[in-house]
Amino acid sequence: MTSPELAIIGGGQLARMMTPPAIALGIKTRLLAEGDDVSAAQVIPDYVVGSHLVLADLKAAIGEAPVVTFDHEHVPSEHLEALSAAGHACRPGPHALLFAQDKLAMRRRLTELQVPCPRWAQIQSMQDVRDFGFPLVLKTARGGYDGKGVWVIREEAEAVDIIENATVELLAEELVDFSRELSAQVARSASGEVVAYPVVESRQENGVCAEVIAPAPNLDSVRGAEAAAIARSVAERLDVVGMLAVELFETGDGRILVNELAMRPHNTGHWSIDGAVTSQFENHVRAVLDLPLGSTAPVYAWSVMVNILGGTEPDLVARRRVALAAEPDVHIHLYGKEVKPGRKVGHVTASGTDLESVLDRARRSAALVKGEEN
Ligand code: ADP
Repeated sequence: MTSPELAIIGGGQLARMMTPPAIALGIKTRLLAEGDDVSAAQVIPDYVVGSHLVLADLKAAIGEAPVVTFDHEHVPSEHLEALSAAGHACRPGPHALLFAQDKLAMRRRLTELQVPCPRWAQIQSMQDVRDFGFPLVLKTARGGYDGKGVWVIREEAEAVDIIENATVELLAEELVDFSRELSAQVARSASGEVVAYPVVESRQENGVCAEVIAPAPNLDSVRGAEAAAIARSVAERLDVVGMLAVELFETGDGRILVNELAMRPHNTGHWSIDGAVTSQFENHVRAVLDLPLGSTAPVYAWSVMVNILGGTEPDLVARRRVALAAEPDVHIHLYGKEVKPGRKVGHVTASGTDLESVLDRARRSAALVKGEEN
């Protein structure tokens, strides 16, 4: 096969959803996939099966591709450095990705940049926990996702096992009494063009994103501008190339605090496939190949994305017909993943002018796909 223009590391749904805009733009992609049947390997024919932890596998997948991007943030820095030294442009680069890989490094850097964060401290002992004060949130600096590696601690006894068994660095954060969670996304191209998406509201269930409303309802314009400015400044100061999502807490007393950073397309931006002029996936691909970026303007007054998490219905494809029959204008996205409880296996997006009915339609469609309604 001819050499790819863009290599994507990791075969999850984010790599899969980068594919339609890559096809449209005539971009030849190659994938490093965890197995033959993973989500993105089903749609990118030129894939290599291997591990992102093995440099030889990364090199085999990347081949002569000049640009490398990622489905996830877990490629070790030393491998990224080696790939950069071999002449591949890793976008985002290891110096930026560190702050999405390591929550301690992220808190230190954002504090230096005077970006508003929850009060935090590194934790190495029970004494550190007591000194920080209760309640608090304990987090592993590395390796957490979807709420794994995050514990709310209200009294000493709840922290003992975590501290004693920790294999990675830990940090504590104040337990933020937030009124809701927001996400501010920007795309930044290799030559520094930045575009900002509307700030959205994300609703979590059990630490996992359940729904996203774009734009965030009743967001104070000053606070919205502050959130967008934070995302833009973080992208520029950390030299992020590609999509950046800044997950934020909005508090009742008018504060915006950064929770965490994701340097790739993000669940809170899936609405943009159907609801924005240019989707986050297209702008990610454009940004990493240093192409001009597209408009982030919403096409509808409201878009609502509802995640489809694995439940009891194993065959979502069979449910597609009934969901489309009931809600033909809600867009269904299935990731080709085996259904396992709680696993993100798809999402739906509804759009329109009346938020309540858009919410109802999106929720109904998702419930029909999951087999929770008939
Ligand atoms: P992950 O890396 O697993 O996504 P996060 O740091 O985003 O972990 O935490 C997961 C969820 O836990 C957040 O979406 C939020 O609901 C809650 N959470 C995290 N940090 C705090 C905090 N300091 N105060 C209150 N809730 C928090």
